[in-house]
Amino acid sequence: MTSKSLHSFLEENIADLKEKGLYNDIEPVEGPNGPTITIDGKELINLSSNNYLGLATDERLKKVAKEAVDSHGVGAGAVRTINGTLDVHIELEKKLAEFKDTEAAISYQSGFNCNMAAISAIMDKNDAILSDELNHASIIDGCRLSKAKIIRVNHSDMDDLRKKAKEAVESGNYNKIMVITDGVFSMDGDVALLPEIVDIAEEFDLITYVDDAHGSGVMGKGAGTVKHFGLQHRIDLQMGTLSKAIGVVGGYVAGKTNLIDWLKVRSRPFLFSTAVTPADAVASTKAIELLMESTELNEKLWENSEYLKAGLKKLGFDIGDSETPITPCVIGDELDTQKFSKKLYEEGVYAKSIVFPTVPKGTGRVRNMPSAAHTKEMLDDALQIYEKVGKEIGVIS
Ligand code: PMP
Repeated sequence: MTSKSLHSFLEENIADLKEKGLYNDIEPVEGPNGPTITIDGKELINLSSNNYLGLATDERLKKVAKEAVDSHGVGAGAVRTINGTLDVHIELEKKLAEFKDTEAAISYQSGFNCNMAAISAIMDKNDAILSDELNHASIIDGCRLSKAKIIRVNHSDMDDLRKKAKEAVESGNYNKIMVITDGVFSMDGDVALLPEIVDIAEEFDLITYVDDAHGSGVMGKGAGTVKHFGLQHRIDLQMGTLSKAIGVVGGYVAGKTNLIDWLKVRSRPFLFSTAVTPADAVASTKAIELLMESTELNEKLWENSEYLKAGLKKLGFDIGDSETPITPCVIGDELDTQKFSKKLYEEGVYAKSIVFPTVPKGTGRVRNMPSAAHTKEMLDDALQIYEKVGKEIGVIS
């Protein structure tokens, strides 16, 4: 492809996406990403961030981050294996292991990066991975990168998992077989059937990997989905992100010492890419300390979620079967969903529409993410706006 044909390829494809209403225009947020946000000078109730506990703007985290800039500077200076492993990274990893009740932990620059790193360091072309069909994009990409055979499992279908695990084992084609799942599924807010998955894994000797990006800080009184089910000693890799409930940035894997030792010598983003900044590391450590000391923020998150869910349900919205604070409001048709979200925006609520291909056709939804930082007044205002827009568009009567 020449440079000229590249540019016409790009222009045609972007125009096509725009015509289908699938080109995501990004509106910058002016200032912090808190329970309210400002976009284009307009203040909006923010129901679209993953800042579940409000920690992204927490004063205690800001304080330690500022101190770390003074004591350690703004960057780690080198990749981890040269001299970019700072004491603050080690402290973070110790805290993560404590938080997840494992022997050790390793941190990465992001959750996405972490899945790419860890899956491909453990699995190879002689292996197979049983992956829930609704797993996150970073799991899918990590599986692809590993070159292992990817076996898609119907969503949370334990009969399908057992059948495919049995077939994979009996085929004798694979050295190692892994079962990998999100702890909490981000589109519908449902929780993985971890006890059943672990039983099947033990029966067929599978490696277990849980991505708890949306469960840490949320499930298990904050400790995560794995601990919620008391399975911390039966899961091989507990993966998580520091960018959602923790409020900062980064990703991690927690597990046995030999696993973490292996990832330190075989996972490429650890070997060849610089770690998070000192301010990020200490802010994450502080956030985890706060979570371990008190369940107050976690309780507030659940209280606000129940309040919002009950309010939307009472108004007549279809909020699906979420078991977590993730609160979808199913509209159905793609264009109606986008119109709904746009109207909410005009009225003062930021709740992003999620449509095909992120979710199946005809199940377009506006996804609400209440947080511990929302006040009852904000949620009441949001519900009033939902009622107005819902009636206007004819989603509720
Ligand atoms: N896993 C899951 C399940 C996620 O939802 C996300 C973020 N959307 C990630 C991994 C990636 O996390 P990060 O934003 O820290 O890269």
